[in-house]
Amino acid sequence: MATALTSPAAGAEAALRLPDRLAAASAGAGLRPGCHLVRLTLDREGTATPPVEYDGTLRVERDAVGTVASGDLYLRRPSGLGGSLSHEPDPAAGIPVFARNDYRYYVRVTDIAPGEGVGDVSLDVELERYGGAAGKWSREGGFTADLTRAQAPPGYPSAGDFLRGDVLDASRRRAGGVTIGWIADRLRRAVIEVECVDGCEAPLANAAGMDWRSIFAAIGWDVAVTHTLVELADPGEDGWSDAELHAALSRGDQVDLDAEWRFRLLCVRRLRPDERGRMFDAAGTDSNKVPREGAAIAAHWMIPDEEQWGLVRHLRFGTATDPYFRTAVHEIGHAMGLEHNTAENGFMRPTDAISRGVIPPQRFPENVVWAYQDEDARRLRHLPDPWVRPGGVPFRLAYLGAPSLPRDAMVAPPSCSSGSRRSTSPCRSAPRYG
Ligand SMILES: [Zn+2]
Repeated sequence: MATALTSPAAGAEAALRLPDRLAAASAGAGLRPGCHLVRLTLDREGTATPPVEYDGTLRVERDAVGTVASGDLYLRRPSGLGGSLSHEPDPAAGIPVFARNDYRYYVRVTDIAPGEGVGDVSLDVELERYGGAAGKWSREGGFTADLTRAQAPPGYPSAGDFLRGDVLDASRRRAGGVTIGWIADRLRRAVIEVECVDGCEAPLANAAGMDWRSIFAAIGWDVAVTHTLVELADPGEDGWSDAELHAALSRGDQVDLDAEWRFRLLCVRRLRPDERGRMFDAAGTDSNKVPREGAAIAAHWMIPDEEQWGLVRHLRFGTATDPYFRTAVHEIGHAMGLEHNTAENGFMRPTDAISRGVIPPQRFPENVVWAYQDEDARRLRHLPDPWVRPGGVPFRLAYLGAPSLPRDAMVAPPSCSSGSRRSTSPCRSAPRYG
């Protein structure tokens, strides 16, 4: 019968979709690792009021132990009301960036289980509502999303990695609807702008070639780097004060932090007081009340002529490639909200502590660990957006003030479950942030 014939176009489409379906099936009950675009509609009491809509991201991290997932939701403002309008994110445009004022919910995924059909997923989540400038959170309660695998609408990069379904409250009553579609391999994205005053080296990589991109790729961030030479008058032999650094940061065209996560690293000759580097955009120095936009590093700081500094003793900092780049990554770590972490010799341990702690025959900086310590990596992946994005909450609004991070939501495969679940205890951090 003629009606049974499939059009060539539809046939090609079906053939193209097959690998996606196989991938979905092989993933079992899981969600594909990476960033998913979430669209949530919450019903409201009564029929006269329209539902409230949110857009956001769900970050799915899979490691040897299991799956950890968290997300953030931003209010989608109704169009046509004037003022700043929310745009629906384009799933083809990669990881979306939302306006900070629209931030509403942190999503902690507590369980991921197989649904009824192949590739279907049942997701248990807890929603934490954000209280804005006061930084207060309130638990909205636990919800379950019963998700059915569906064909993604146009624009999504993977037709088979799309789910839709109802959101149910704790009493199994419908609270709304949701769609979740995979959009990128990475979890978060940002730009790091390296701005160098004349005579200052750009910290772009370590001696072994490990650069910003590879460091952040290891923790699931998609980081682009720009490097520019800037003409800024040196404030004097004593170096740059925090206020002078902030004024330099605020010059010229301002970055729209509601359109991109851009962290800026100023590379100057000296800092005042005399330090290696500093995340200066905090507290009283943050005169424009846009926290953590940038950090600075001192290319002309002299490494002390002392034994503890090993292979780089008495070098000008900008010429000591490894510790210079490491400090740059450390300061940007502060700009991303991280505090000091002395658990290992990773990026957030202060440089002098690493050099003091070297055990011969190693010599500093051979004992540097070129990674964010596990808990810091976990924070960068799963802390709520306002904690890590530039222009979010002020620096040193402690991790304890944020909702607790998700634990493994699904331990897989079961035979590997050794009880070694990840700890969510925050590290105790030193009060300094140089
Ligand atoms: Zn520091």
